[in-house]
Order: sequence, then structure tokens, then C-alpha cells
Amino acid sequence: MIQIRLADRVKSLPPYLFASIDAMKQEALARGVDVIDLSIGDPDIPTPAHIVEAMKKAVEKPEHHQYPSYVGMLSYREAVADWYRRRFSVSLDPKTEVLSLIGSKEGIGHIPLAFINPGDVVLVPSPGYPVYPVGTLFAGGESYFMPLRQENAFLPDFSAIPEDILKRAVLMFLNYPNNPTAAVAPEEFFREAIALAEKYNIIICHDAAYSEVYYDGGRPLSFLEVEGAKEVGIEFHSLSKTYNMTGWRLGFAVGNREAIAGLGKIKSNLDSGVFQAIQETGIVALRTEDTVLAGLRETFQKRRDVMCEGLAGIGLEVNKPKATFYLWTKVPSGFDSTSLVAHLLEKAGVLGTPGVGFGAPGEGYIRFALTQPAERIREAVERMRRVVG
Ligand SMILES: *Cc1c(COP(=O)(O)O)cnc(C)c1O
Repeated sequence: MIQIRLADRVKSLPPYLFASIDAMKQEALARGVDVIDLSIGDPDIPTPAHIVEAMKKAVEKPEHHQYPSYVGMLSYREAVADWYRRRFSVSLDPKTEVLSLIGSKEGIGHIPLAFINPGDVVLVPSPGYPVYPVGTLFAGGESYFMPLRQENAFLPDFSAIPEDILKRAVLMFLNYPNNPTAAVAPEEFFREAIALAEKYNIIICHDAAYSEVYYDGGRPLSFLEVEGAKEVGIEFHSLSKTYNMTGWRLGFAVGNREAIAGLGKIKSNLDSGVFQAIQETGIVALRTEDTVLAGLRETFQKRRDVMCEGLAGIGLEVNKPKATFYLWTKVPSGFDSTSLVAHLLEKAGVLGTPGVGFGAPGEGYIRFALTQPAERIREAVERMRRVVG
């Protein structure tokens, strides 16, 4: 028997706080509890039918059965550039400023490998998507966590970052509309970020996974719409949340050509690109009629309104989100985020996500995802009414 030992980088992964929650969920299900799971950031609505139909045709073409090009089919990258022009009035060179990704998580996780040397600093929002610090860790970098606090509208306060950290910083992750806080960034904030990046030579990686999940007509900005953005950074995008395609694994990175080339270099050595049938289907998805997306947004907006009114009615404080399908809900006194999640699961069969799982500044909040039908959400609120307050 040899001794199988994990590498230090795996041993130093932060504890997976959601593992104990998942164990509790499994245990509740085994007891026969009808769990209403509002913890998962994965839309319950299937991929639109015209996209599924396109895949059926694409998968039959033998030319798609071979290795794809690692940067992505030019036709897919052109469709991405067209989409950016239509949606954001941003022009992109499909050959040098667009890279296909096996979901945006893949690109986000890999990009530190292209630019981070041991000891380099990556500026990471907290609470935030766990892949930012983990990708940093795998590249030997050091995460500096920028707290997102309600009093700053859940935007990082750049003036609070020490000068020596800024001098060592090589990358900065940002994410608006934000998971988990549901905050949206104003243009002024992106301007500040660009000025900071120029001053300290920092590559900005903006994660725009939720740019199409917005409400009340308030279309979020692309980072690349802001003057100077392309000189300092890139934007990650995903078809996952926009078209209910989380399982398909398709995304893209766009923007600064040197940053795109660096990420492409890592990918060409690690993976062999996205299944071409999926890329061809992605072209169809990116050309989806606006009315289809408007319908999806309407569904989430209805759920949002049901849940926000419901939570307010039982005395839980929540900001009505302008975007994303998350509700960042204040934990009432007497609980912390983990004990409230456990309490709600135990007593009401409703599962949320403890804010602390997204980073220490997330303590004091739990995240509810609107990834269940409105009737289930209404029922969840009714059950919670009996056990909180
Ligand atoms: C869901 C999500 C993504 C998208 O992940 P994919 O790999 O494209 O499915 C990226 N960033 C955040 C913050 C997310 O919540």
C-alpha cells in the first residue's frame, strides 16, 4: 500500500461550509421532509426549446465530433461579438478579443494561472463566488478580501485597501450584478476601478454572469461599456444564467487582447475547447429573440415580488433586488447565518444558504435563490412565518 497524500494546495482549501448543510438536507430528505430548496443558484426552468432543437441538429454533424479549436469556432466568437454590439454597443474583434470557455467558472478558475506568480496578490470581493480565491490559491497567489458591506451598497471600498497590497496586486475580480448580494454597480464605480487598475497596473476580471437577469427594465452595464475598460481588463460571461443552460457548460471571456491571449495559453495546454455542437447551439442561443428573455425575467420578477413581500410580512429585512435571482436577507437577532439556515431547515423544511459560506463579511445574511416556482416560494414563506419572529 502506498501512502496517498493530498498536495498542500488541496489541504489548504478553505473548509467547505456548504458540506454540512448538504448533509442536513440529505438527512431531512431521508426522513421524508418535503424540502423547499432555495439554496441552489441553478434555474429550475429548462433551456428554451429552440435552443434544444438546434442542439439536436448540431450533434448529428460529423465535423463536430472531432477536437474543437481551443480558442473556439470563429462563428461562435463572431456571434459573441454581435451580441456585445447589440446588447452593450461594445465592439470586439472576434479573432483576438473573444475566447470561448467551458462555462465561465472554467475561465475564472484558470486565469490566475496565466498572470499570478507565487506571492502576488489578487483582490477578491467577499462575500463572493468561491472560485475567485480558490483559483488564486491554486496559482500560488494570495487573496486580499475586499469586504462588500451594505453601507457601501455592497461595492468594495478601494480607499480601504493598504498601499502595499495595491502595489503587489496583479488581478482584481469584480462581479456585478453580484452573487450573493444582488447589488448592481453604477458606472461611476467601474470608473473608479479602472483608475485604480491604471495606477497600480492591475488586470480587472469582471464577472458578468447575471447581466441579463434584471428587473423593472434596469439593464445592468457591461464593464466594457465604460471608457478605458478594454485597456485594463476582461469580462467573463456565461450562457448558464441568461438562457438556463447551466448544464451545457458554455461561456466566454472578452476584452483586453493580451489578457485574453494569456488565458488562451493556459487553456490550450489544459483543455481542448468546447464541444463544437454546443458552440454551434450557443450561436442560436445568443440570437434568441429579446421577447424570450423578457419572459424569463418576468417569471423571476414575479417570484422576487412574492418572496420579498412574504419576507417583509414576517419581519425579515431584505433589499428588493434589481438584478440576479438572489435575495440577500438579514439574519434576525438570536441567530447567525448558519444557525438560521439549520433552524429553517429543521422547523420549516426550507433551505437557504448561510452568508458566511461566501466569506466572513457574509455573516449576518442568508441567501435565498428564486429557483423554485412561485407557489413553492409562497409555501416556503408560509412555513417560515410559523418559525421566525
Ligand atoms: C453561476 C455563476 C457563474 C457562471 O458559471 P458557469 O461556469 O458559466 O456556469 C459565474 N459567476 C458567478 C458569480 C455565478 O454565480
